[in-house]
Amino acid sequence: LKANNARHLWHPMAHPADSQKNPPTIITGGKGVRITDVDGHEVVDGVGGLWNVNLGYSCEPIKAAISAQLDRLPYYSIFRGTSNDCVIELSEDLKDFFAPDGLTRAFYTSGGSDSVETALRLSRQYHKIRGEAGRTKFLSLKKGYHGTHFGGASVNGNANFRTAYEPLLAGCHHIPAPYTYRNPFNESDPAKLAQLCLQALEDEIAFQGAGTIAAFIMEPVLGAGGVIPPHASFMPGVAEICRKNGILLIADEVITAFGRTGAWSGSRLWGVQPDFMCTAKAITNGYFPFGAVMIAEHVAETFEKDETGRAAIGHGYTYSGHPVGAAAAIACLAETKRLNVAENAAARGAELFTGAQALMDRYDVIGDVRGGHGLMIAIELVSDRATKAAPDKPVPAKVQATAYEAGAMVRVSGPNIILSPGLVLTSDDVQVILSALDAGLRAV
Ligand code: PMP
Repeated sequence: LKANNARHLWHPMAHPADSQKNPPTIITGGKGVRITDVDGHEVVDGVGGLWNVNLGYSCEPIKAAISAQLDRLPYYSIFRGTSNDCVIELSEDLKDFFAPDGLTRAFYTSGGSDSVETALRLSRQYHKIRGEAGRTKFLSLKKGYHGTHFGGASVNGNANFRTAYEPLLAGCHHIPAPYTYRNPFNESDPAKLAQLCLQALEDEIAFQGAGTIAAFIMEPVLGAGGVIPPHASFMPGVAEICRKNGILLIADEVITAFGRTGAWSGSRLWGVQPDFMCTAKAITNGYFPFGAVMIAEHVAETFEKDETGRAAIGHGYTYSGHPVGAAAAIACLAETKRLNVAENAAARGAELFTGAQALMDRYDVIGDVRGGHGLMIAIELVSDRATKAAPDKPVPAKVQATAYEAGAMVRVSGPNIILSPGLVLTSDDVQVILSALDAGLRAV
C-alpha cells in the first residue's frame, strides 16, 4: 500500500516529494472518534476527518439511510423538470434548521468549493436581474479560505492559494482579517481591531465604488487560515456595511455550520442573517460528497420574479440534490439535533481550549492559542515569542508526528497545529489529545 500510494496516486499534498522515505499515514479504519492505521495503531482523530466527521465514524442511522436509499432510488437529476422525494424532504428539514438565520431555500452542490462557486455566481446574477449589472466585484478577508475553484481561489485571502493559478477572477479584493496576533495595525485588542478592519472595509468599498461590488464573503470563524475568531462586533458590523451599500453577504459556513462553533451556525453565533450561506462538509458527516447553499427568501424571490425567464439557467451540477446524499443529510441532521452536538462542542471545546492555553504556559514554542468557540482551536508555533518569528520548518511536523505516536492525530497548517475533532468526543478524548500534544511539544 505504501509503495503504491506514491506510485499511482497523484497530488503533492497527498504524497510529498520524499514520500518514499516518509510515506503518508494510511488510515484503514474508523470507529467513534478514533481512527486506525494500516499498522494497527489507533488514535483519537483530533482533526475530525477534515472538519467534517462531526458525529464520528460509525453513525448507524446515516449508514442505514444510505443503504435504504441505494435500494430505492440511487440517482435522479433535479434539473430536467424532475425532482426526487428525498431532496424535497431534506429541503424542508434545512429550512427549519436554518430558519433563525433567515434562510429558507437550498441549492444543492457536491461539496464546499461548489457551494462557494454557486454563491458567487448567483450573487452576480441577482444584481443583473435587478438591473445592476455593474455589480461584479467580490470582497473577502485576508487569511480567508474559500475552496479551490477559480472563483473561490480568487476570493481566498492567502496568496499561496492564488498565485499559481493567476490570472484569476478580476475585481476580487481582500481586506485585513481581525487576527489579533498579527495584523497591519499592530492592534492586539480584539474590539479595537474589529473597528479598524471594518473601517478598512468601508474604505475599500468607497475606493472601488459601492455600485461595482456584488458580494462580501467571509467565514464567521476563519478556519483553514489558522482559526481566527473575530470579536463579536465584527460580523454584525460587516452585515450592516453590506446592507447599507447594497452588497450581498455570503457566509462561508463550510466548516462552521451544524454546530462546530458551539452554535448551530456561525452566523447565529454572531446574530447575523446572511443572504447566502455555503455549507458542505458535516452536512453528511463525511459519508457522501454533498453541499447546500442556503438562500434568503428575498434573494430567491428575485430569481423567481425574473421576467426574462433566464434566471439561474446555466448553473447546476449533475449531482445537485443527489438522492443518496440527501438521504445521508436527512439522517445526519436528525442525529445532529438529537445528540445536541452544538452543546457538546461548546463544552468539550472549552476544555480543549483551556488545556491548550495551559500548554502555552509550559512551552515557549507556542506563540498564540486561538479558540473559544466550540471545537475550532489553533496553536500557533514560533521560534521566538518576542519577535513572533515562524518556527523552523520541521518543528510543526515533529509535533504532529510525536503526538500521533502518543495517541492523537492533529493537523499542521503552516505554523499552526489545528484541532477540529468530531463534535461527539468525550472529556476523556479531550485529555488524550492534550497529553499527545504535550508529548509532541516536549519533543521540540
Ligand atoms: N470553504 C471553506 C470555509 C472551507 O474550509 C473549505 C474546505 N476546507 C471549502 C470552502 C472548500 O470545500 P471543499 O474542500 O469541500 O471543496
